[in-house]
Amino acid sequence: MKKISILGSTGSIGKNTIEVVNNHPDKFKVVGLAAKNNINLLQSQIQTLRPEVVAVFDEPAAAALRKMNLPVEILSGEQGLVSVATMEKADMVVSAIVGSAGLIPTYEAVKAGKDLALATKEALVMAGSIVISEASENGVRIIPVDSEHSAVFQCLHGRDMQEIRKIILTASGGSFLRKKISELDAVTPEEALRHPNWDMGRKITIDSATLMNKGLEVIEACWLFHLPPEKVEVVIHPQSIVHSMVEFVDGSIIAQMSVPDMKGPISYALSYPERFAGILPVLNLAEIRELTFEEPDLKKYPSLSLTYEAIRAGGTMPCVLNAANEVAVEAFLNRRISFTEIARVVSETMAQHKVLKTDNINTVLNASNWAQARAEEIINSKNSKKEI
Ligand code: MG
Repeated sequence: MKKISILGSTGSIGKNTIEVVNNHPDKFKVVGLAAKNNINLLQSQIQTLRPEVVAVFDEPAAAALRKMNLPVEILSGEQGLVSVATMEKADMVVSAIVGSAGLIPTYEAVKAGKDLALATKEALVMAGSIVISEASENGVRIIPVDSEHSAVFQCLHGRDMQEIRKIILTASGGSFLRKKISELDAVTPEEALRHPNWDMGRKITIDSATLMNKGLEVIEACWLFHLPPEKVEVVIHPQSIVHSMVEFVDGSIIAQMSVPDMKGPISYALSYPERFAGILPVLNLAEIRELTFEEPDLKKYPSLSLTYEAIRAGGTMPCVLNAANEVAVEAFLNRRISFTEIARVVSETMAQHKVLKTDNINTVLNASNWAQARAEEIINSKNSKKEI
């Protein structure tokens, strides 16, 4: 019986994880749950899963949950999340908190020697060098939950890295694949949130439309698979059936395919190295008929170029890219900036950043805070110019 803590249990990955767990009650037991503030859902998760520890990030929400008199200890704040991430009983931590808030709990889980099913890509984007070296020191296994990285992980299975020419991450192209560049300035948050293939959270759906999500995944892949950025390529694949590929030195490419459903990669991360039956519906290729691939247009998706720039700059730059993007996406969702301004805010923030070495987690957090504040100022100055 594998004992699991879930960080981000009320989000899209968290809910899918619980579905996988519920389908295999003989294999998994949830011992810890952590969420931001959705206490109504958390309450029902507590009642069905009976975890031993629960943490709610927002203090008022934690207080409200405590009043419900559930048979479990309710912790709060970042320290609460860390307690769930490091709890003695957990064999594995599912790291699925959206955004930079997931960094510290994930990092602490690795320090505590917990195997990780990793969906919070920000942990590697912001602090890849620190998290990866800490994981290898503590013998921690990081198994990707991100569908692309799960695909690569499955294709690599036991191969010598010397045999790899490159990995190819597939991208759906997001909500605006067929829109012209000139049309992008006027798109609304509602349109951007309508993803054609994947049902995901708001932040990642916007990142999917700008291709920033793919850029963050390139950074994540470089750390997970120890590859330089020139060995990580992106190709647009609108059907989202091939989840990613590995090209070997002999010219062979191995791809992993399935219907687009996060329960696939989640289940593989939880059950690895086994595979459990009955997770996904059968993929009917004859019905799909066509799998197509195209090169991403970097003029249309400047965020993708920015991420390669950030990797090459190294140090704190990927962290700055990520933090500025979080602020810019939020500003777009709140109609403070247009869709195309997201990449401009990120680019301007990066241009003003002086890269530092990421030798400890505080350097990373300081860079992230700096970038959030700077991006906010850039957005405000854009808006005040508009008002004039
Ligand atoms: Mg992904």
